Amino acid sequence: MMVSEELIERCNQRIAAYDCEGFVYGQGPSRPVIMFVGEAPGETEIHNGKPFSGRAGRYFDAFLEQLHVTREDIYITSTVRSRPYKWGKGKNAGKKYNRTPNQKEIAAHAPILDVEIEAARPKLLVPMGRTAYWRLLGESPQMAEVTGSFFSSPIRRLESWEKRMYLFTDTSYTLFPLYHPAAVLYNRSLEADIYSHLEKLKQYISTD
Ligand code: URA
Repeated sequence: MMVSEELIERCNQRIAAYDCEGFVYGQGPSRPVIMFVGEAPGETEIHNGKPFSGRAGRYFDAFLEQLHVTREDIYITSTVRSRPYKWGKGKNAGKKYNRTPNQKEIAAHAPILDVEIEAARPKLLVPMGRTAYWRLLGESPQMAEVTGSFFSSPIRRLESWEKRMYLFTDTSYTLFPLYHPAAVLYNRSLEADIYSHLEKLKQYISTD
């Protein structure tokens, strides 16, 4: 376990002010070649503690299959480690729904991801979707503009929780952004692009 329970406790105290529930640990070897960074767990994940085990997880598993790697080969974590939820309205009152984490929630859990990245020092960081991309790089482009290319860049680490301020690392990391696995649930036409991005990633792994 790369992250101390004490740090997790502190981060969870910070997120407690918001509508978030549960906690899912990152999973994988301590020195992975690739670290995948998602957004936040959903209902399934907070119940069984396994990242990407719900609906998006089926697509994530398909990503891994295409890459010819298993969960034991890679590290999988997310920007926020609790499930941000919102209450349904009208006939759905009393039901909880997943939502995108906001910037305060992202900052609350940011030190956890910072420690994971520093400890694991992965050769490649794969932010999946806009939340992870923004968390690491501080920009919010359309994923279509940035997916499927390798680039080298410093990444953001939380400098001050009170000011919600990030600073860029001194060292550069290699990044390869992908669409979030759940993106195809909303847009089938992304499948072909995702397939070719994964082929590129597979090539990278095989020449590693
Ligand atoms: N999305 C994530 O980012 N992580 C999960 O575990 C599930 C969906």
